[in-house]
Amino acid sequence: MSWLTDFIPPRIRNLMSKREVPEHLWVKCMSCETMILTSDFEKSLCVCLQCHHHGLWSPKLRYAALFDEGEYVTIDSVRLREDPLQFRDQKRYTDRLKDARFKTEQSEAVLLAYGNIVNHLAVVACFNFNFIGGSMGMGVGEILIQGAYCALHHKKPYIIFSSSGGARMQEGILSLIQMPRTVLALTQLRENAIPFISVLTHPTTGGVAASFASLGDITLAEPKAVIGFTGARVIQETTRQPLPSGFQTSEFQKDRGFIDHIVHRTKMRDTLGKILDLFDPS
Ligand SMILES: [Zn+2]
Repeated sequence: MSWLTDFIPPRIRNLMSKREVPEHLWVKCMSCETMILTSDFEKSLCVCLQCHHHGLWSPKLRYAALFDEGEYVTIDSVRLREDPLQFRDQKRYTDRLKDARFKTEQSEAVLLAYGNIVNHLAVVACFNFNFIGGSMGMGVGEILIQGAYCALHHKKPYIIFSSSGGARMQEGILSLIQMPRTVLALTQLRENAIPFISVLTHPTTGGVAASFASLGDITLAEPKAVIGFTGARVIQETTRQPLPSGFQTSEFQKDRGFIDHIVHRTKMRDTLGKILDLFDPS
């Protein structure tokens, strides 16, 4: 510390150390680490201009580009009793929820909506990875099931955009129960011939990849998204075997029959429109 800083009163020092550049002016690509102006990044649908990596995209921005004229209606979720285990690690779980709600302006990690996609009404659920890593707890499970019942009631297709680290550990077994619950809800759609389209975006892992996200009648994915159950590093350390190149990417999974089609973000709306047209050509 220099003699100068010693003599600057704290309030003035705070003013001097304030960032002149707004915090969210730049975004760093998760893949090639190029710094991109946030406005340019959002204009390119949050796809990196250098390496075309499909970055995290909030449900609200995705819906604005997905639905006809950017118009949709959100479906409010049922409020559940939160934090039944009164979980605390470095922070209280309730504080993590509060922070995530403030950061994302969403009540949970999934936003449920319905609207027209190229003139076809569909129910859509979309994960927000910035809400506690898009983790699936009781709230997320409940919203996904609500979406399935809404699709069932109106006899309209159901689309889920997944982006998740898996189960929400702060809810213990109650989060794991959401795997069979969501699968059962989708079974009801299948029994009533209501199509379910699963769209896997970066990253789709853990309990989400291991449950409903793998059960699409049609499964789409964004390019180069990480899709798998356990992280590649953990698998490599456990098996002590080198992993094949491109392991757990959309392209790798498509080559093995897990994914039907890889769709660039700019083509997603048109592709979904064509698929919905097959089911409902009227
Ligand atoms: Zn990049």
